[in-house]
Amino acid sequence: MSTHPDPSNAAVDIGSSDGASADVTLAPSPQRILENTGTVPVAVAYGDGIGPEITEAVLRVLDEANAPLSYDVIEVGRAAYERGITSGIPEEAWDAIRSNRVFLKGPITTPQGGGYKSLNVTIRKALSLFANVRPTKSYAPYVASPHPGMDIVVVRENEEDLYAGIEHRQTQEVHQILKLITRPGSERIIRYAFEYARAYGRQKVTCMTKDNIQKQTDGLFHQVFREVAEGYPEIESEHQIIDIGAARVAAQPEQFDVIVTPNLYGDIISDITAQLAGSVGLAGSANVGSKIAMFEAVHGSAPDIAGMGVANPSGLLVAATQLLVHVGASEVAQTVKNAWLKTLEDGIHPADIYREGLSTREVGTTAFTNAVIERLGDTPSQLRPVQYKSGGVTVSLSERPKAKKELQGIDVFIDWDQHDRDPDTIGVGLSMAAQSCGWTLEMITNRGVKVYPDGLPETFWTDHWRCRFLPADGETTTFSAILDLLAVLHSAGWDVIKTEHLYSFDGERAYSLGQGQ
Ligand code: NAD
Repeated sequence: MSTHPDPSNAAVDIGSSDGASADVTLAPSPQRILENTGTVPVAVAYGDGIGPEITEAVLRVLDEANAPLSYDVIEVGRAAYERGITSGIPEEAWDAIRSNRVFLKGPITTPQGGGYKSLNVTIRKALSLFANVRPTKSYAPYVASPHPGMDIVVVRENEEDLYAGIEHRQTQEVHQILKLITRPGSERIIRYAFEYARAYGRQKVTCMTKDNIQKQTDGLFHQVFREVAEGYPEIESEHQIIDIGAARVAAQPEQFDVIVTPNLYGDIISDITAQLAGSVGLAGSANVGSKIAMFEAVHGSAPDIAGMGVANPSGLLVAATQLLVHVGASEVAQTVKNAWLKTLEDGIHPADIYREGLSTREVGTTAFTNAVIERLGDTPSQLRPVQYKSGGVTVSLSERPKAKKELQGIDVFIDWDQHDRDPDTIGVGLSMAAQSCGWTLEMITNRGVKVYPDGLPETFWTDHWRCRFLPADGETTTFSAILDLLAVLHSAGWDVIKTEHLYSFDGERAYSLGQGQ
């Protein structure tokens, strides 16, 4: 039986051994530890709900497979939340994760309300785990799936986008969030997706954005995708607008191979793919940074079945094979994954994937784990066995010359709720104030739509007005001219709530026009 590289596993970027900061000294990279000592220390959190049951099951399989790992068990999640630690991560757990650099995490129950923060988001961002890698695959005909040919890896940017958490209420009616997309953040995740595709024999990388609407932010992500794709001519590349792309993923997932997206779209797409594959219980995921990586199941703590002995440990087991590849123990990863595939193929199935006619035996967590252990050394005969390469995916960023940045004007956001919100009233008032200090009011928009000059009466107006001012003479302006303008607006009684500078970079406008402008 020939074996293939299995692209469904995340091999990950191993950073340099330096980078120690604060009071914790980071250990050498996991691969180096493995080469030098034969074992790699791993921080392990058993998690909440079904977490302890499935984590115990996974550690049993790893032990029986002689995985070269030692475990540093830490307590995060419910117990920490109950001690009043709102992040869910006590100081000693941070130290253990940062010094071990590899983290196997059981699912955590996030308490509702009470100011508690999502532990996952905190860990991803604090440790700069920039890539979320979620392979999802159909195991048909052994596990029922409407899409037997599906085999997708979603590579989701993990730190930026709307997840920067920068939100403000600005007026009685308007709240805003800041969406941040950066060039290095985009390049890092897109290169990661292509390097992953190259390392694991994937044929195609699809980028999904909404750059027909979000021209600056998603436009940058798409632009970087085009640039990076040129360096991988052997891999097919394509871009799809996220709305139709998501619809196609749901209807014809077989068409996709690797998908790379900004954070929010990837969050949604990767849940769709996990669901399509048959059961959330089967998928693992890796959160990868240049120094630290965290591995976990895609599903949550499943409180409805906690303690019943029926949970499927497969998601965390698949994540553990991703971990093994990450630390350089590819052969053990292969042994474990093949034993697991053989167990599925033999029809020995936990309740979430058990189907009369497809399965041969319905088993609980322990019996399923025993079945995997009994099959260590076996390979599946129908499902494609896996063969992992050693070595991870490494990503380096390109150098770019700095563009010439020039200040061209300013958008001033004003809270105004008078005169039936008549745009001509605010327009004329602001124009007069602007003229008195060498500025011109170019336009006003309300929720992005131009309402002055020449707005339409049908447009709905809130109390939040974006007013664009340009210097009356010349193409550029200065910060002190902006301060003069703001002082004039303030003393004329306008309620300025926020400003946004208008720049050009190398002579190119770097801000959007008003809709209808
Ligand atoms: P969930 O994934 O825990 O459960 C959804 C459904 O899938 C439930 O019916 C559950 O029984 C089933 N299920 C999940 N994993 C299973 C498994 N391994 N075997 C068999 N059945 C399984 O999602 P939820 O109920 O929305 O969330 C429960 C808790 O988990 C919440 O507190 C949520 O915040 C948390 N959560 C944590 C993570 C994480 O730690 N990465 C991820 C998602 C949700």
